[in-house]
Amino acid sequence: MFLSAELLVVAADSSTFDERMALYQKTEALTQVPWYYLAAIDQYERNTSEKSEERITSITFPDSLWFGLENIDHITDSRIIGLFQGIGQDGTGNNQADPMNDEDALYTLAMYIRQYGITEPDIKIALWEYYQRSLTVKTIVQTAKVYRTFNTTELTEHEFPVPLNYNYSYKNTWGDARGFGGRRIHEGTDIFAGYGTPVRATSYGVVEIKGWNRYGGWRIGIRDINNTYHYYAHLHGFSDDLSVGDVVQPGDIIGSVGSSGYGPPGTSGKFPPHLHYGMYKDNGTNEWAHDPYPSLRAWEKESRNR
Ligand SMILES: [Zn+2]
Repeated sequence: MFLSAELLVVAADSSTFDERMALYQKTEALTQVPWYYLAAIDQYERNTSEKSEERITSITFPDSLWFGLENIDHITDSRIIGLFQGIGQDGTGNNQADPMNDEDALYTLAMYIRQYGITEPDIKIALWEYYQRSLTVKTIVQTAKVYRTFNTTELTEHEFPVPLNYNYSYKNTWGDARGFGGRRIHEGTDIFAGYGTPVRATSYGVVEIKGWNRYGGWRIGIRDINNTYHYYAHLHGFSDDLSVGDVVQPGDIIGSVGSSGYGPPGTSGKFPPHLHYGMYKDNGTNEWAHDPYPSLRAWEKESRNR
């Protein structure tokens, strides 16, 4: 639980992204379900489930759903699966619906969605029926928006949240006690910098929350395409043109460093100006805070080498 979940994501090289995209687009051509929804569901599954070495996508279905409840021998003949009312479909044209075959799995997913329709509201209903979890539906729809915006899934860069040419300092304070609001531990990293220092998006994602919070002051929450929610608190203000639902990329300026918070809206100056940076990982069942410090160090290095 306390491992940095970011570090567990296996790095994929460019050819993997290309191969996946070819599969998504082929499936879209067959089913009219937009590729970026298929890609976003695949990404969500990759972030929340066990991975298979032999496959390049992570779409899986429970056996009883794929084969049909009473197809206990797991016969892959697509006509037999149909007789048993399994949802497994043959996407390759060999009359076999193999749940370990990427094309069959993607085609089955797309055909499942298609029953509901291919507009965003239709797809949201299909996702709700399948996952029964609103955060999952929201995450997938937001990831699809990011993929659609950049027309690729190969979005692996990050930026440090403060431009490196400003004065700033931070250290690892994970779990330190803090003074306000009772016995809470410190779930984040404080980056100390002067008032007005620009604050940047670190990752590709969508703005999920923007406004006042009693502890965090003026704060922004961005959910990225890896199921991680990034929390930026104590801001002095927000970028004028930033709204909830906006897609951001690493380096986009979202606000500036301040000392807001620890009281009713507008409270400021109760502590030195700093950016409180928090990261919360969703594993498909629970969301929990993990230490952002190792990621911040890595992004700082990445920004420096750019
Ligand atoms: Zn803090």
